[in-house]
Amino acid sequence: MLKKIKKITDLHRELTEARKSKKKISLVPTMGNLHEGHLSLIKHAQNISEYVVVSIFVNPTQFVAGEDYNKYPRTLDADTESISKLDVNLVFTPDTNEIYSDNYQTPIEVPVSYLESIHCGKSRPGHFRGVVTVVSELFNIVQPDIAIFGEKDYQQLLIIRNLVKNLFLPIEIISLPTVREESGLAMSSRNNYLSQSDRQRAPMLYECIKTTIKSIKNGVKDYVDLEKEAKLFLEKAGFKIDYYSICDLDTLRSPINENLVILAAVWLGKTRLIDNARVHTYD
Ligand code: AMP
Repeated sequence: MLKKIKKITDLHRELTEARKSKKKISLVPTMGNLHEGHLSLIKHAQNISEYVVVSIFVNPTQFVAGEDYNKYPRTLDADTESISKLDVNLVFTPDTNEIYSDNYQTPIEVPVSYLESIHCGKSRPGHFRGVVTVVSELFNIVQPDIAIFGEKDYQQLLIIRNLVKNLFLPIEIISLPTVREESGLAMSSRNNYLSQSDRQRAPMLYECIKTTIKSIKNGVKDYVDLEKEAKLFLEKAGFKIDYYSICDLDTLRSPINENLVILAAVWLGKTRLIDNARVHTYD
């Protein structure tokens, strides 16, 4: 039976019981408006642990000024309905003042500043500080053995891995591949903002990433040229480019070997989409 909890004290009471019976606890942090991408993380959590906590919290501190915090889709009833069909033990849906009770006086800075300063960190200054702060809080509140994140937010994943490693947090971070619509478009709550015509155009982003990967696999080594080509293709198709970058899989710095990931963020109208793919896992 799914427990729905809003208060940290109630959550602690529940988790104390789970811990007493030595259950392995996993946490899947989300901002809600759940889709198959989120559900894949939750299903994996069920397979690898005995107690699954899903958090749903639209975190204000990771939205930069002028972004979509107010209009971000909040669909708590539908979300709890879809979670209750799975074997989730607890859904944690705190109010903002439960998480930021003290006026956000202890923000957590990302320990690896390079990762925070590029790509989404550059375009959305302060975003990762908000992410790392809320993730740290959730880790402290839930104290999970395992936390599961999507590779869809690849830069975020690396930053969280660094957070855990650098601060010696006793939590195993597991990542899972991006779930896509049949068209190839990466599932995202923000896809709901797309107009009908932009929705038809949106899958071209992943098409473009796959084309870049093919070129690399065919031996093209001039990555700067490949990036230029991709940007031109996307611009012609009506996208505005934030970044399109071929970089090192582990550090997101300039490539040093064949371990590559392609990261992209683009605008279609007022909607910002991100996507990525590793070069070596694509066939
Ligand atoms: P969000 O609710 O957007 O903050 O995402 C919550 C978690 O779900 C994050 O770890 C995301 O990386 C992950 N996620 C979002 N979209 C997808 C997707 N299409 N496939 C897999 N995981 C995803």
